[in-house]
Amino acid sequence: MYTELSIFLLTLVMGAFASQEQFQTFDDGVRPTAQHCCNTLETVLSSSAILYTGSSGYTAQSSTYFVPDQAAQRPACRIAPTTADDVVLIVKFATASRCEFAVRSGGHMSWEGSSNIGPNGFTIDLQGLRSIELQDGGETISIAPGLTWGEVYAFLKPHGLHTVGARAPGVGVGGFLLGGGVSFLSMEHGLGSDNVLDYEVVLSNGSIVHANQAERSDLFWALKGGSTNYGIVTRFLMPTMPLTQLWGGFLKYSVNAAPQLYERMVKATDQLKVDPRGLMVLCTAWNPATKEHAVWALAVYLAPLEYPSPLFEGLQDIEPIGGTTRIADLGEFLNETGQVLPKSQYSQWFTLTFKADANLPWDVQLKGEDILGDLESPGAHWEVLVQPMNEGMFSAGQKRGGNPFGLSVENGDQFLMLVMVFWTNPEESALMKAKTQEYLKVSMDLARERGLLTKFIYANYASGTQNVLESYGEENIKKMRIVKEKYDPDDLLKVWKGGWKL
Ligand SMILES: Cc1cc2nc3c(=O)[nH]c(=O)nc-3n(C[C@H](O)[C@H](O)[C@H](O)COP(=O)(O)OP(=O)(O)OC[C@H]3O[C@@H](n4cnc5c(N)ncnc54)[C@H](O)[C@@H]3O)c2cc1C
Repeated sequence: MYTELSIFLLTLVMGAFASQEQFQTFDDGVRPTAQHCCNTLETVLSSSAILYTGSSGYTAQSSTYFVPDQAAQRPACRIAPTTADDVVLIVKFATASRCEFAVRSGGHMSWEGSSNIGPNGFTIDLQGLRSIELQDGGETISIAPGLTWGEVYAFLKPHGLHTVGARAPGVGVGGFLLGGGVSFLSMEHGLGSDNVLDYEVVLSNGSIVHANQAERSDLFWALKGGSTNYGIVTRFLMPTMPLTQLWGGFLKYSVNAAPQLYERMVKATDQLKVDPRGLMVLCTAWNPATKEHAVWALAVYLAPLEYPSPLFEGLQDIEPIGGTTRIADLGEFLNETGQVLPKSQYSQWFTLTFKADANLPWDVQLKGEDILGDLESPGAHWEVLVQPMNEGMFSAGQKRGGNPFGLSVENGDQFLMLVMVFWTNPEESALMKAKTQEYLKVSMDLARERGLLTKFIYANYASGTQNVLESYGEENIKKMRIVKEKYDPDDLLKVWKGGWKL
C-alpha cells in the first residue's frame, strides 16, 4: 500500500518536473536523465541517503570498492537504502521509468561496471542494509546484504558458530552468494549459495517475495547462480555450524617447489573423500623483496589438529622457507587471509576450471612468464591461485536441491584457478588488459588441448569478458530463462547493469 501510494506520488512528481533537459535520447528511445532519476527518488525516499558527486558520503562509498577501475566510475548519484521497503520503491521506480542502475554489496567484484555505473545511471549501495539475527535457536542466521563476511563472523563468534561465507573479511554477503561462494566449509558443505535456505528478494515489479525449497523453488534454484537477473536480495537465511579453533596458515616455498606441491595438492584433494574438513590452496605470487615468484600454500584444517593425516601426508617433507601454521582462533586466522590480495591496485582477473592435475597449473605459470615476464614496470606482477573443487562439494550442492552451475560428482575432482594481473600505473591499463586477455586465451587453449578443461566458469573470479552463464550448460540456461520469463516477463531488469545477464 505504502509502495503503491509512493509510486503514484512519484509519477506525479515526474510529471510536474518534466522538462526537456530531464530526458535524454538513447539508442533504444527516450529516457529520463540519471540526474532526474536521482532528484525524483530524493523526493520520495525518506530514510535512504541520496549522495551526489562531491559529497563526502559519495566519496566514502566510492573509495570502498576493492579495485580502482570500479571506484573511478561516477554514477549520477549513489542511493543508500536502509530498508527493504526503500529498495522496493527504487526498483519499482527505476524499472517503470527506465532509469539505469547498478547494485553494490561489498564492492569486491573485480571488473569495472560489475557493481558500479557511469554518469548515465545511479548506484544502489546496499551497505545500509545491515540487519543480522540468529533464528531457530541459533541453527540459522538471517543476514542482510550490506554486511561483509567479517561482520557476520564477528556477530557469530561469541556463539562459537560460523557459516559458509568468504575467506576474507571484506567480501560482501550479496555478491559472494549470488555468484556461488567458495568457503573454508565448502569442501564438506558445498558453495555458499548451496547453503542459502531462503532468499527475501525484490522482483522487477517491486514485490518482495521469499524463495526457498517449499515456496518458489524454481526461483530458489535459479538465484543460487542468479547474478543480476532476478531481483535484489534483501535478506539471506543460512545455516550455522559450530567452529571456533582451527589449524592452518600460510607456508612459503621457493618457486622450484611448485611442481611437487601441485602433486601434493592433487593427493590432498583426493583425500577430501575421506576427510572433507581440510583445504589446500596454492598461490604462486611475485615477491618484490627477492624479485622472483614464490609459492604460498594455504593449509587449513577445521579443527585444532596439526597436519592431520591423510590430508596433509607428505606436505612436511617439502621444506618451506617460512610459515605461519598454528592452532588459532578463526577470527585471527581470517585477518591473515584477508591481507593476501593487494587492495587498490589496478588488476584484471580471469578464471578456469579443470580436472585436478599437477602439471597444468605450473605450465600456466610458465605461460605467464612468456606473456608478462618482460614487464619493466615495477608495480606489474601476476599471481596464479589454485584451489580444489572436490566431489564432496558437488554432492553437498546436489543434496541441498542443486544449482545452475552444471557441476556434478561425475565431473570428478576439479581445480579452480584464479589468475590475477596487477599494476599500479594507470597509463599501462590498456596494455595490461590486452596482455591479460592474451593470457586467458593461452591458458584456456592449454587446458583444452590436454583434455582437462571443464566448461564451468566461476562468476566470482571471472573477467567481465568471460561467458559465465553460457558455461552452466544449455539445459541449465534454458531453465534459468524459464524462471526469468516467469518472474520478470518483460525483462524490466534490463536497466540493471553489471553482473552477467541471461
Ligand atoms: C580480497 C578478496 C577475497 C575474496 N575471497 C573469496 C572467497 O573466499 N571465496 C570466493 O568464492 N570468492 C572470493 N572473492 C571473490 C568474491 O566472492 C566476489 O568478488 C564477489 O562478487 C564479491 O561480492 P561483493 O558483494 O563484495 O561484490 P559486489 O561487487 O558488491 O557485487 C558483486 C555482484 O553481485 C551483485 N549483487 C551484490 N549484492 C546483491 C544483492 N543483494 N542482490 C542482487 N545482486 C547483488 C552486484 O550487482 C554485482 O554484480 C574474493 C574477492 C576479493 C577481492
